[in-house]
Amino acid sequence: MEFRDLKKQYQLHKSEIDSAIQNVLLSGHFIGGSPVIQLEEKLADYVGVKHCITCANGTDALQLALMAWGIGEGDAVFVPDFTFFSTAEVVPWVKATPVFVDVDKDTFNISPYSLEEAIHEVINEGKLTPKVVIAVDLFGQPADFPAIRMITEKYNLLLLEDGAQGFGGRIGEKMACSFGDIATTSFFPAKPLGCYGDGGAIFTNNDEWAKLMQSYKVHGKGEDKYDNVRIGLNSRLDTIQAAVLLAKFDSFVNMEINAVNRVAEQYSQCLSDVVDVPKVKEGFVSSWAQYTIRVASGRDRLKFVLAENSIPSMIYYSKPLHEQMAFKEQQRIYCRLDNTIELCREVLSLPMHPYMEDRDVEYVCATVKKIHS
Ligand SMILES: *Cc1c(COP(=O)(O)O)cnc(C)c1O
Repeated sequence: MEFRDLKKQYQLHKSEIDSAIQNVLLSGHFIGGSPVIQLEEKLADYVGVKHCITCANGTDALQLALMAWGIGEGDAVFVPDFTFFSTAEVVPWVKATPVFVDVDKDTFNISPYSLEEAIHEVINEGKLTPKVVIAVDLFGQPADFPAIRMITEKYNLLLLEDGAQGFGGRIGEKMACSFGDIATTSFFPAKPLGCYGDGGAIFTNNDEWAKLMQSYKVHGKGEDKYDNVRIGLNSRLDTIQAAVLLAKFDSFVNMEINAVNRVAEQYSQCLSDVVDVPKVKEGFVSSWAQYTIRVASGRDRLKFVLAENSIPSMIYYSKPLHEQMAFKEQQRIYCRLDNTIELCREVLSLPMHPYMEDRDVEYVCATVKKIHS
């Protein structure tokens, strides 16, 4: 069994994907060109925002947003303690300070209570200026944006949505990657919408920021890339990746999002009486980048026995960000991070993808139940 079966997805869409790649090869244009423009238009339209700017990966996307906002030394950027490293990695990169915030145990997403506590603490301390909140759509579920937006408005902060795992999710009819002042996503192969290499995108309604990020991603270009008006990056999505994404897009929208939700429902029905299953808030729809259970005791043994039964599982994440050696300079903790510490001991992600057969889900459930009841 595969944890995320990218081979099966390719086999099923082989002819569209092969001919999309072939067309790029025949065109001889490997950077930029119409597939990139078409993709940006399609994604902006799907998400419901004015600008989509593709870039080289989801980490650059976050960094480009902070660069466009001019975030730097002395600025506090609030990030969840429980997320992939990238979310916070970009903060010291622009010389700002990450302030780690606890998450909600049911949704795994940034806790509005903890966020407000951390903001107060930063203000009281008086050393850093609160500037940005990065809210992550972790494991596919949009963060609690109605509550977070109230806080960013109250304290006049910018909201950056890290939708690397959340593309395709929504709250009501409003799509993930439309909630932040700027939102980002990743097309890393295993993300909900993946390409066949690295890729990322940025979304915003703001014309000025969009223009700045267009410039920053191509060496700080002015009129063209040989007119350089600021220090930027080389961060483009290449044409083959854009073509792959275009070829996969319709089935992502029309089939895959529904399919992962069916798998999640099947898991939850079967497992809710033996482990803590993930909870999706009323009116929220997840794109299920991961299906993550909580096992109060015996998580590592469960993982081991699953492996013995040929079932792959993963621990996302085993270490709170504030314990990562890379952040040892950012030792100051501004709020309690107890939920994150607990989750790191308890979480286990099970195989999840749109092409998972019913019998595979049943086999995983039966195996978990055999060990855990
Ligand atoms: C994957 C991921 C990123 C980074 O995306 P890359 O394309 O790998 O750079 C950022 N944030 C989160 C939450 C992610 O899961």
